[in-house]
Amino acid sequence: MQHSTAQILDGKAVAAEVLERTTRQVEAIREATGQVPGLATVLVGADPASVTYTRMKRKRAEAVGMRSMRIELPDTASTGEVLEAIDRLNRDEQVHGILLQHPVPKQVDERRAFDAIRPEKDVDGVTVASFGAMAFGGAGFASCTPGGIMTLLAHYGIDPAGRRAVVIGRSPILGKPMAMLLLGANATVTICHSRTRELGQVVSEADLVVAAVGRPRFVQGDWIRPGAVVVDAGYNEGNVGDVDYDPCAARAGWITPVPGGVGPMTIATLISQTARAAARQLDVTLEN
Ligand code: NAP
Repeated sequence: MQHSTAQILDGKAVAAEVLERTTRQVEAIREATGQVPGLATVLVGADPASVTYTRMKRKRAEAVGMRSMRIELPDTASTGEVLEAIDRLNRDEQVHGILLQHPVPKQVDERRAFDAIRPEKDVDGVTVASFGAMAFGGAGFASCTPGGIMTLLAHYGIDPAGRRAVVIGRSPILGKPMAMLLLGANATVTICHSRTRELGQVVSEADLVVAAVGRPRFVQGDWIRPGAVVVDAGYNEGNVGDVDYDPCAARAGWITPVPGGVGPMTIATLISQTARAAARQLDVTLEN
């Protein structure tokens, strides 16, 4: 077997470019309308990772010149209280994008809360309406992590068309929409999950692997077909992805690092989709 060192899919660098473009778009919207795009983050409870994620998202929004609004509800909040908060944001003209941080406490019906977000403001791409639009190639917003992965692949000229793609994971915000976007880009897609048999064998046939499992270093080096593209969407405690990096990098053609791969692309996609949402709501045509 020929050993190679994979080329890096540098999410940090590509995200910086996306954010730079978004900064220009925010300025163009402000010049055209006198209005500033606004992103509202809704955090229910105080899960430390979620607190950090929402803070990072607001910080990025502000760094590109947007307004950010922070809604915090106690971890005892009911579904009704979350729906009420979302309804207020749906009606607030200064809010162009709404992010409800996943996961919410278990007494809250997360699907119902996500689907209460007006599709025009669903910049995180979590509603059934957005999923449907994305799956049918419509104008809705992509779920941010899969959307960011597609942008990253495109940046490096990696066209999924005709490739055998294996997505490990089928969650509504990651694995499933990832598979739909790859299918839309003409890959031949297999979706794996906890009931998949002979997972290593299935993965070894892939030209492109996306790991979205939530288990540290789950994807093994000897599963990787030499030269394959390996995308690690996982983020586990201790900055560890779902891919066993060194052995996989020794066989892959391209690989995303953790951190600095998919994570920054997710946030950049959220921010960029918020600018696009504002442009649509304010009737501004963006140049790029
Ligand atoms: P999730 O909802 O827990 O889904 C995990 C998926 O992996 C499920 O579909 C599950 O299958 C599958 N799975 C679990 N064990 C498996 C096994 N032994 N073999 C094959 N499949 C298995 O997680 P998620 O929200 O999609 O997140 C996945 C990972 O991405 C996590 O590490 C998370 O931290 C990370 N993440 C990163 C970002 C980012 O911005 N970078 C954003 C969101 C999530 P079943 O459906 O059969 O249970």
